[in-house]
Amino acid sequence: MGKVNFASKMMLVGIYLMAICGGAIFLFCGGGYGQEKLGVVVSIAPLSEWVRGVGGDKVEITVLLPPGASPHTYEPKPAQLIKVERARIFVKNGAGLEFWADKIVKINKDILVVDISKEVELIETSSKAKGKLHLLKDPHLWLSLKNAKKGVRQICEALSKVDPENAEYYKRNADGYIEKLDALDREIREKLETIKNKKFIALHPAWSYFCRDYDLEQVPIEEAGKEPGPKHLMRVIEIAKKNNIKVVFVEPQFNPKSAQVIAREIGGQVKIIDPLAGNYLENMRTIADELARCLK
Ligand SMILES: [Zn+2]
Repeated sequence: MGKVNFASKMMLVGIYLMAICGGAIFLFCGGGYGQEKLGVVVSIAPLSEWVRGVGGDKVEITVLLPPGASPHTYEPKPAQLIKVERARIFVKNGAGLEFWADKIVKINKDILVVDISKEVELIETSSKAKGKLHLLKDPHLWLSLKNAKKGVRQICEALSKVDPENAEYYKRNADGYIEKLDALDREIREKLETIKNKKFIALHPAWSYFCRDYDLEQVPIEEAGKEPGPKHLMRVIEIAKKNNIKVVFVEPQFNPKSAQVIAREIGGQVKIIDPLAGNYLENMRTIADELARCLK
């Protein structure tokens, strides 16, 4: 028995050492990104589809925010630094969403930062901190197909700047992806136009730009960016009853408890829509379909 244990322990040590050496050789040879691929880091998964749409097979993309995490509270892991060090471009949503990414970007001073929010008309919102209300810009701007178009143009510009040889390729891809954005925008507009009840309840108010685009109104359960108090919950329930709202939308990154309480009170149900899915176009269509089905 003792022998077997010793042998398996030695084997584990061996594997461990091999992994370390392998990693060292990999780093030494400049691994991490393939030789010809251009390293692009994005903060949140939806932006990765925009970069893929423009960069095609010429880019290698790293997403910083892992699935299930909230960008509002995230803390990056040290292991992500290696990818950031080797990347040429960092694409972020901006408007304060990636307060956690600034630190990482500082380690690579040559990285070209694309801040989508710089080219977008921002919506104002308020948040509560230390008992006080603060006005700030609503960061959920990636959830607008119109903003996505502007983002894709910015990404195309950045890729062409870093890799001018393939500028034509990037331009062609960007045009193609923008065509898809336009087509989906028209499709969603038609789908949501006929809806009579424009109000819906959302746990986390991620949909301000989406609502602006399609003339809808979100009623947030969160109270100025925080868990709601009983008074606010009562108000949301009242609005729901008055407007005959039967569905409460939740985002998978947040605790659905208060949403379930409200759903129970109004005799409705809880539905998940995800603002952070990586398959951007498909997910935006799913969100619109879900809203169209539930609002009527
Ligand atoms: Zn959010």
